[in-house]
Amino acid sequence: MKFYTEPAKQLPIFVETEVLVVGGGPSGIAAALSAARAGAKTVLMERFGCFGGMITTAGVESVAWWRHKNTVESGGLAKEIEETAKAMGATSPEPQSISQAINAERFKIVADQMLEDAGVDRLLHITAVGVIKEGNQLTGIITESKSGRQVILAKVIIDCTGDADIAAFAGAPFEQPDKDSVMSVTTVFSCSNVNKNRFMADIEVTKPKYGDWGRDEENKNWSYEIDDSCKEMFSPYLGKVFAKGKKAGLVPKEVTLGGSWSTVTEFGDANYMNVVSIPKVDCTDVLDLTRAEIDGRKQALYAIETLRQFQPGFEKATLKNFGMTVGVRESRHIIGRTRLTENDICHQGRYPDSIGIFPEFIDGNGQLKLPLQPHYFHVPFGCMVPQGVENLLVCGRAIDADKFAYATIRNMGCCFVTGEGAGVAAAVSIKDNTPVSAVNIQKVQAVLEGNGVKVF
Ligand SMILES: Cc1cc2nc3c(=O)[nH]c(=O)nc-3n(C[C@H](O)[C@H](O)[C@H](O)COP(=O)(O)OP(=O)(O)OC[C@H]3O[C@@H](n4cnc5c(N)ncnc54)[C@H](O)[C@@H]3O)c2cc1C
Repeated sequence: MKFYTEPAKQLPIFVETEVLVVGGGPSGIAAALSAARAGAKTVLMERFGCFGGMITTAGVESVAWWRHKNTVESGGLAKEIEETAKAMGATSPEPQSISQAINAERFKIVADQMLEDAGVDRLLHITAVGVIKEGNQLTGIITESKSGRQVILAKVIIDCTGDADIAAFAGAPFEQPDKDSVMSVTTVFSCSNVNKNRFMADIEVTKPKYGDWGRDEENKNWSYEIDDSCKEMFSPYLGKVFAKGKKAGLVPKEVTLGGSWSTVTEFGDANYMNVVSIPKVDCTDVLDLTRAEIDGRKQALYAIETLRQFQPGFEKATLKNFGMTVGVRESRHIIGRTRLTENDICHQGRYPDSIGIFPEFIDGNGQLKLPLQPHYFHVPFGCMVPQGVENLLVCGRAIDADKFAYATIRNMGCCFVTGEGAGVAAAVSIKDNTPVSAVNIQKVQAVLEGNGVKVF
């Protein structure tokens, strides 16, 4: 590779704040809301033009599709965000659970409003591209936007980029699955002109269930082990129809389609069609991302043509939209102070530094288990604390977890939990003038409990 040496230059200090949250997805929204509500001057910055992360930019609407009657809830912001979205007309009933599906477009307004009400300073269209470090102390980040290259200084930085960008820039140790084992990425799309009555009538007849996932002979795109407890339960799964499309030559041999539908409106919109999966994509590599976007759009069109020909109710369906970006499931995650493991998820892990809980729900890396029992694990503060860098916490899907536990903690419900815990920890550490890694955890837990979070 050839190199160019960039000349050194002075950068303007654009903003100085107490807490800087980088990345405005589920974890970033929760971190910014909780830090600001706990009294810290807080900035939330996001590289795209809206907050919401995978919800709004990819179109993932099912924030709690795992919720059933005995599921133990995390409370706090996870609950408040879903309820606020409902009160603002930004949800509709999710088809497989007792939860709300979030309307990806309307949620942009919900996030804007909640952040404004909490007094968070919001910045859109601005990307973190580097860090400022004095010894092992992180003191700020370098940003790029249409306003140029600028600096934001902060006492505590919360990395909610999903990809642990800030931790990686700062030299904190992280892990990243190789391309053969990383979860696939998805181009989410929505359709218009769907005949809901015909579609639902067909679903009544075909009765898809979780046990069907990846079971079609000609379309074994997933090898999933489904827990016996949920095999026979209804799942909004589309698989067989794509096997037909392949047989008919509508889907190329090397492409495998299959996955779930979500809300279908009275007006004929089928939102959040999650049936495309592109394997072997490194989401921190611009060439892979380019390939994924282009291949993903092609595959979505194969899917729509197949649905038009073989899925009752979709005969006149047309493409409504693609997600603004390919949906990313997995990339870097930090090696922190504590690692969440398979044992924690499956055997109700307990930690004295818990900042919240999440139910025993496993979806990914070949496993599915719904939280039909009241089992849950503690989320320890230590899984957000990176090694070797001070003043930094990492939240959302980039926390420290083993491959098995990752299939649980990547879920948005758990991302809200880590974001809320990190925001409160940042505010408490600033008030007490202690490094965030050494924050008084009992004080943090007391604030979280006051906010309605189930901490233990
Ligand atoms: C197709 C698909 C289906 C899924 N289905 C479900 C589901 O049904 N239920 C569920 O709970 N979860 C689901 N997930 C997983 C879930 O959406 C993610 O794991 C979750 O959104 C992660 O939240 P996060 O806050 O860590 O990161 P993200 O949601 O990825 O948000 C990160 C934000 O940071 C911004 N950002 C990144 N880098 C920078 C930077 N350098 N500077 C500034 N901003 C930056 C991004 O633009 C983004 O807005 C799904 C994911 C995919 C892709």
